[in-house]
Amino acid sequence: MHATDTDITRMTGAILARYPARATSLLPILRDIQTELRHVPRQAMCQVGAALNLPLTQIQGVTEFYAFLSTEPVGRYDIRLSDSISDHLLGSRELGGYFAERLGVQPGLTRADGLVRFDYTACTGLCDQGPAGLVNGYALSRLDRNRVDQIVELVNGEIPLTDWPQTLFAVEDNIRQAGLLLNDTFSPGAALAQSLARGATATLEEMTRSGLRGRGGAGYTTAMKWQFCREATTPAAPSYVVCNADEGEPGTFKDRVLLNRHAHRVFEGMTVCALITGARQGFLYLRGEYLHLYQPLQAVLEARRQAGLLGCNLRGQSGFDFDIHLFLGAGAYICGEESALIESLEGKRGVPRNRPPYPVTHGYLGCPTVVNNVETFVAAASIALHGGDWFAAVGTAKSRGTKLLSISGDCERPGIYEYPFGVSLATILADCGGETAFGVQVGGPSGSFIARREFERRIAYEDLATGGSLMVFGPERDLLAIVRNFTAFFAHESCGFCTPCRVGTSLLKNTLDKICTGHGTPYDLVELTDIARQVQTASHCGLGQTAANPILTTLECYPERYQARLKAIRFEPGFDLDGSLAQARALTGRDDAQAHLAQVED
Ligand code: SF4
Repeated sequence: MHATDTDITRMTGAILARYPARATSLLPILRDIQTELRHVPRQAMCQVGAALNLPLTQIQGVTEFYAFLSTEPVGRYDIRLSDSISDHLLGSRELGGYFAERLGVQPGLTRADGLVRFDYTACTGLCDQGPAGLVNGYALSRLDRNRVDQIVELVNGEIPLTDWPQTLFAVEDNIRQAGLLLNDTFSPGAALAQSLARGATATLEEMTRSGLRGRGGAGYTTAMKWQFCREATTPAAPSYVVCNADEGEPGTFKDRVLLNRHAHRVFEGMTVCALITGARQGFLYLRGEYLHLYQPLQAVLEARRQAGLLGCNLRGQSGFDFDIHLFLGAGAYICGEESALIESLEGKRGVPRNRPPYPVTHGYLGCPTVVNNVETFVAAASIALHGGDWFAAVGTAKSRGTKLLSISGDCERPGIYEYPFGVSLATILADCGGETAFGVQVGGPSGSFIARREFERRIAYEDLATGGSLMVFGPERDLLAIVRNFTAFFAHESCGFCTPCRVGTSLLKNTLDKICTGHGTPYDLVELTDIARQVQTASHCGLGQTAANPILTTLECYPERYQARLKAIRFEPGFDLDGSLAQARALTGRDDAQAHLAQVED
């Protein structure tokens, strides 16, 4: 049943009343409208625009930008299956075909009765327990035909999600190997007490001594970032602390586990940062795919408020005020880029900013902002408690401490592994039961493909820097299918702001599709390399600059696998003219397929 204009006005009004009337409320408001009305109708956009004093174009632009918002109604059950390569290895594509058939709906469409929509989505952060998916944003794990049958029955029976068996939503932590951080015993408030006793300046010195570098992958020195922010903070430009929990890199899921098991430590690390920088407000930007963590995290925040660990005069220190707001994303990989994340927090499309200036001096609302990864804040809290030397004693000279890895793919024991920096791939593969791998993708699709002959290489900023994704590929896997999946991912996730990435990633995808479907020629391989180089060098942000990595690194390691897929002819058009004319031939009764073609083969 469709909502009437009166319903839309009433529901939108009720949602608007929950939020402050300012631009930064836009995304949460649109999320709520989507949840209640199953889309964001134009009428609601106008109403929101009037209430927040924003132009309709901005509201429409934001709605169309995020994958979890839509301008057309989706089904009451919105089912999305993860399209991550780790899920593919577990048979997700075949399962998706079965799912769609059983539901009686084409992927990407809503069923005629409006009850259910089925589609694929980017990695849902459950690569260790796939095939995985989402229903109305909530995680579904370990899907198989039995579970699919069960879900189809629940959907067709119109059973409310709250009455579905909880086993369907079970998400395991799968911690396989714990180290310095995961073994650390930590009681809420202990790091903060220690920091207050030591003082902000001395705590910053401990951070410096620890050698902690950002765990998101870029590896910027944490203490330096905090110090720059501290120095840029003024009464007119107050600082902010942002935890980047938009863990969208396919194959990464360690932040999910940290948020589930060690939320106090994440928030405490943010609070220590606030003590040092002088920030009074923090945000944790949680990826939309981790909706199941939203309420538990809110509960932890509330418990901290009750315990005097958030709010005013923390732990009795007059003037030390700090609170954290949980902000839910809406399905956009690019929001993992720190300036895009800040744009999103401000109620805009997640388009990366020009840099410099950097967020540390001109971030949220133009003010100094520290953006750090979940794992970085966990490490910071433990360092504040135990001191910098405790942390610096582990790892290598340039990479102190430990790294959490999310391991998935062709291995016996997928899950979370914590290692001191400097560990070799060979050791990791032996531990997770992936010894027979022919290659591993380190750092997700934007990282590097490492061939078997390089398995002595080490996880460290000075060798293989990674945000934590490690995907294992067994000897029987089709390398080009893997690269094709990564390339399609980037083409889908490009924000469209700059031409080299917007057009280039689509050209890469199309050329790779052509090669993979057996129509590629040596000319296409040259084209592929040329486009890849242009995308890499001319793109505006990290997404475009790394989008061609899977192609370039595998072309270097395995040129023969590409060569083997090429046709012998020098050129073949990317557009199948004859196939496109098939319908016209049928309508006119012609049976002269390929009559127009005069192709000369070598
Ligand atoms: Fe957007 Fe891609 Fe350009 Fe980055 S490189 S700004 S993701 S279009």
